[in-house]
Amino acid sequence: MKYLNTRAEEVVSFKEATLNGLGAKGGLYVPESIPQLPASFYEEIENLNDVEIATTALWPFVEGSLTREELQTIVSETLSFPTPVKHIYDDVHVLELFHGPTMAFKDVGARFMSRCLSRFVEKGSETTVLVATSGDTGSAVAHGFANVEGIKVKILFPKGKVSPFQEYQMTSLGGNIQALEVDGTFDDCQALVKQAFSYSNLNEQVQLSSANSINVARFLPQMTYYFLAFKQLKKMLSGKKLIVSVPSGNFGNITAGLIAKRMGLPIDQFVAANNSNNTFYEYLDTGNYTPKKSVATYSNAMDVGAPSNFERIEFLYDKNLDSVKSDILGFTLTDEQTLDEIKHVYNLHEYVLDPHGAVGHAGLKAHLRKNEVGLFLETAHPKKFESVVKQALPSYPIHDVNLQGCKKISMKNSYAEFVNHILTP
Ligand SMILES: *Cc1c(COP(=O)(O)O)cnc(C)c1O
Repeated sequence: MKYLNTRAEEVVSFKEATLNGLGAKGGLYVPESIPQLPASFYEEIENLNDVEIATTALWPFVEGSLTREELQTIVSETLSFPTPVKHIYDDVHVLELFHGPTMAFKDVGARFMSRCLSRFVEKGSETTVLVATSGDTGSAVAHGFANVEGIKVKILFPKGKVSPFQEYQMTSLGGNIQALEVDGTFDDCQALVKQAFSYSNLNEQVQLSSANSINVARFLPQMTYYFLAFKQLKKMLSGKKLIVSVPSGNFGNITAGLIAKRMGLPIDQFVAANNSNNTFYEYLDTGNYTPKKSVATYSNAMDVGAPSNFERIEFLYDKNLDSVKSDILGFTLTDEQTLDEIKHVYNLHEYVLDPHGAVGHAGLKAHLRKNEVGLFLETAHPKKFESVVKQALPSYPIHDVNLQGCKKISMKNSYAEFVNHILTP
């Protein structure tokens, strides 16, 4: 598979796209074409194991850069935790994506990418992965890249702005994972990382890479969720249409789903469920895409005012709003409604939602029609956002987090200091 760049004339392999992260002129890499899988694959999917399904789905996208055996090994290391579909009520089902090491769905993409990157880095050399995080990405990347040969990770997180649980996940591993606590905001952390990439002199001294969902090796493996969900739901469908609601921030997860649909996976429509950061919702509504500054909400992993994967969606749909709208329905939910949603679903169905899943569930409920089967993705374990859940459900237990023995380095919001940390082994 070759990858094109959304902004420039550039054609690269999967390996080059993974190593580069971002394309020339800041463009995103997109697959040059999307292959259909044979009808027999969907007819027999319930007889295949998860690793076979994911390997078949991902193979066309990595061919030329990995062997099929390598892909299969990577996939089996990536999918070493369950992704069960559970029935909640009527035609509403949930796909729980929180059974990985950091209890949020980014574990799959982070693991897959770390294994690819480690194979692509030349023997004997080393790549330093820089990642700025508001919480969830950092923990998934820390665990996904821990002890992976040839890779060092520097995670920048804003002091006092991540939950104790997230801090524990980023600072407890040590080894090749270094957590830098910046006296500043998430935007400051992100600015430091961007500066490191644009400062070419630094790139000559160390090989730098990034691990957010702009990287093809992090967003594409998320395709597998949709195939695995279909496998589990297939016998329930019997002629009914499947509609899937995805709590969305940077839109990496839903974009992977849209690609799966193009490959022939029978999902009728997606709901892009947003919190108050609803730039995409307004785009569907008005046809105008107007990025905004992000606002803080309870579902903070979706606090994105300018979703980076929007560019990939535009590319996939040839900038045709009507075709986008035929596949994606919009939805937006406030914080207050999010708490209500957690309360309601627990009282009626005894299922505890996290704030992100609550947005996803509400989006599904708003759009699900008779004779459709509904699925929403639960992207984090409620425990990960327990202080929000407790506001909705006062009896929800709060866990003590013991940060003793955890290692982090405190630093000022200073580029010079950051460079020192990058250059010290
Ligand atoms: C990252 C994240 C999201 C948003 O996913 P995107 O791919 O950025 O749209 C939703 N929920 C949780 C818990 C996340 O960590």
